[in-house]
Amino acid sequence: QRQRLAKASGGIAASADGQRLELAVNIASTAEAQLGFALDADGVGLFRTEMLFMDADELPGEDEQFQCYAEVVRLAAGRPVIIRTFDIGGDKPARCLPAPQESNPFLGYRAIRMYPDQEAVFRAQLRAILRASALGPVKVMIPMVATLGEARWARSLLEEERAALGREEPVPLGIMLEVPSVLFQLDAFCREVDFFSVGSNDLTQYLFAADRDNERVGHLYDSLHPAFLAALSQAAATVHRHGRWIGLCGEAAAAPHALPLFLGMGLDELSMSAPSLQECRRRLRELDAGRCRELLGRALECADGAEVRALVAAEARPAL
Ligand code: PEP
Ligand code: MG
Repeated sequence: QRQRLAKASGGIAASADGQRLELAVNIASTAEAQLGFALDADGVGLFRTEMLFMDADELPGEDEQFQCYAEVVRLAAGRPVIIRTFDIGGDKPARCLPAPQESNPFLGYRAIRMYPDQEAVFRAQLRAILRASALGPVKVMIPMVATLGEARWARSLLEEERAALGREEPVPLGIMLEVPSVLFQLDAFCREVDFFSVGSNDLTQYLFAADRDNERVGHLYDSLHPAFLAALSQAAATVHRHGRWIGLCGEAAAAPHALPLFLGMGLDELSMSAPSLQECRRRLRELDAGRCRELLGRALECADGAEVRALVAAEARPAL
């Protein structure tokens, strides 16, 4: 039975009734990629490239970046690799990309908002990623997109660099779904970009207006709150109506209680740190997607995250 299902899903992780859910790894280095693939990751769902910038006194050059991305693509051996362009600012300062002091860094000059002033740096990174894409399936993902104009601008630069490099194969372009404005123009975004990955760490903080690092408001920050689940399940339905792909790469991917709800939404992928992969794969194999859809329906009726957790815990006995 197991073997049959594994075959039916092409080796990708799947539930007991055969619904696929890719389980990918979040990485910030080649060592983490190695660990993820040793633990059977279905791909890299988030390569946090800002780590190359944060640890350096000088900007990493195009060739240096290419070597690093190429190494990860080689390790992936045909599995997809989502490379996120640098997400500097907010909680992630970099000496080599000085940013102004701001009173609200999470609402300020961060990620794509910085790119127009750092266009040469953004273009160099796109070229490094495009060159690595010759070695295996690579997708480009842009962080902190809030408007259609930003997505279009990123697409135009990617296409210009692709043409300049003479690369014929298009490289899929996606965005982090982590700014709430995107939720309300999702149909239009589906016409602009190829895929989405929910950044639940940021989307949660922006949805509840609660700083992800401030414990005093931690009780408001809840990725299992019905309001958050409603945002996500509506987003997944819209994205799939357009035939697009949607994953999730924040901490919530590996949160206890979350897996049956995310399976019920029909997300295409969950990306998490390597140590969570095996347990998640084991639990996924025991779930029934139909029952999880029904469970999600009831979770959306709950008043708060505590009720959702109690509901999922009760369902999990004996097993979903
Ligand atoms: C997120 O926001 O959920 C995410 C994955 O990105 P980061 O934590 O790097 O902001
Ligand atoms: Mg984020």
